[in-house]
Amino acid sequence: MKIRFSSDKKIFSQHTDGVPYLSFDMLDELGVPNLFTTRYVSYDSDAKDGRKGLRLAVMDTDDIEEAAPFVIKNRDRLARQLGSSIDCECITDQKHTNYVHVVRPEDLGPDWPGEKPLHRQYVDGMVTDIPDVLLTVFGGDCPPVYIADPVRGAIGLVHAGWKGTLGRIPAVAVANMTVRFGCDPQDMYAAIGPGVCRDCYEMGNEIYDAFAEQWSTADADRILSRYPAVDADGREIPGGKYHLDLREANLLTLLRSGIPEEHIAVSNVCTKCNADMFYSYRSGHMENEQTAMMVNRFGGR
Ligand SMILES: [Zn+2]
Repeated sequence: MKIRFSSDKKIFSQHTDGVPYLSFDMLDELGVPNLFTTRYVSYDSDAKDGRKGLRLAVMDTDDIEEAAPFVIKNRDRLARQLGSSIDCECITDQKHTNYVHVVRPEDLGPDWPGEKPLHRQYVDGMVTDIPDVLLTVFGGDCPPVYIADPVRGAIGLVHAGWKGTLGRIPAVAVANMTVRFGCDPQDMYAAIGPGVCRDCYEMGNEIYDAFAEQWSTADADRILSRYPAVDADGREIPGGKYHLDLREANLLTLLRSGIPEEHIAVSNVCTKCNADMFYSYRSGHMENEQTAMMVNRFGGR
């Protein structure tokens, strides 16, 4: 895999056996199986769809009946690479909300796409203290945020696009783990996964206004920058657009939730800068997305 990292700091390990993926070194060291897939497919399988690469998610444009068998088979294969299986998996519909679901035993197993019960619709994050549960989210530029508490044996995984980020979805996960499982944020670790970088993430002015209103002007100035418009000669002209830094915004949220800075790993991979290696919504890849997984392998409390 030829991925361009934006810093020399080693955050990830690359795995190329079976379905290729990246894992966070920090979570690996904690003993938390975790992954983030790419669009790179290195093996031949009847579960591979030549037209769309390896399908791990059902997209809005897919024929569900046609895609679902591929997707379920492929995701089970991927889960088994982490020592888990799709029988232990919980997923949600992901509608760019900041709702977080506390996983129940009846949530686990291969969901036929489109048939999730109401409590997992309009939900973009999950937390659990049930041993061996596999959490999965999808994204095609939106970063996942992984949270783990080795003391209480609990994990959380959220999908943090700009709406979820604005709604501080990582903080909602931390709060649920604190209230429901008795976790202390000081014991937690977190990892902000690959997603679109600030340079690649142009936004409308109303996004600045939304962060200024719901967070603060100082925060909006920190996580959004106005990139000037230039003419053909490179001269600055009126106009320009704001760019949003999802990593910085989610890092702020995690720090304010009380997770120590030295317990937080931040991705140095942009899905759009590496659109040859990742599905990037902003690069026009609507046909597939990345899968993020993590397993609660702490053994319960
Ligand atoms: Zn980028």
